[in-house]
Amino acid sequence: MTTVCPFCDSPNVEKIMINEIIKVPFCDDVAISHPTFRCNNCEEEGDFDNSLDKALTRTIDKANIMSAPKLMEELTQIGITMTYLEKALRLPFRTTSRWKRGKISHSALALLRLVMASPRLLEVADDNFSPEAIAKYQLSRTWDFFKKNTINPGCSLTWDMNQLDIKFQGNMYPRITNSPVTQKVEWVSTP
Ligand SMILES: [Zn+2]
Repeated sequence: MTTVCPFCDSPNVEKIMINEIIKVPFCDDVAISHPTFRCNNCEEEGDFDNSLDKALTRTIDKANIMSAPKLMEELTQIGITMTYLEKALRLPFRTTSRWKRGKISHSALALLRLVMASPRLLEVADDNFSPEAIAKYQLSRTWDFFKKNTINPGCSLTWDMNQLDIKFQGNMYPRITNSPVTQKVEWVSTP
């Protein structure tokens, strides 16, 4: 069957190859090459025979699924074992070994990425999402930011009968502020 241009109905179309870079979170980009059409009459370009969508979706799905074992390996390297992850998230035993073999759903992959973005979330899950664990997690995020991005980070705590104030302070690295002068930063909890 001859492919015709959907814009001008001309049969004078040619197949061309397009190179695309697919971004896969926490992994290397994936380069893919796929065919598309160009009309030599009106110069429109596109997926004239509707063959691209399915093939492209399959390729992107495959690249994402392939990223799961790498993510799991990186989590293990920062001290999060798959046994702990399963226990904290109340997953059935050996769930992660199925993931490692490529049997992973979109939602499980999204979960892995969230854990990778913020591994301490597992402590919250492990503590059955208690309000204390959530509060500790939120404070630790702020503290981690200060520790990573400031010189001489400090933390002070004031408490009276009515309110609790937590103050983080430090000097911001020049590389973060992009300025030759260090800048004093502080964060105070809002009661
Ligand atoms: Zn055309």
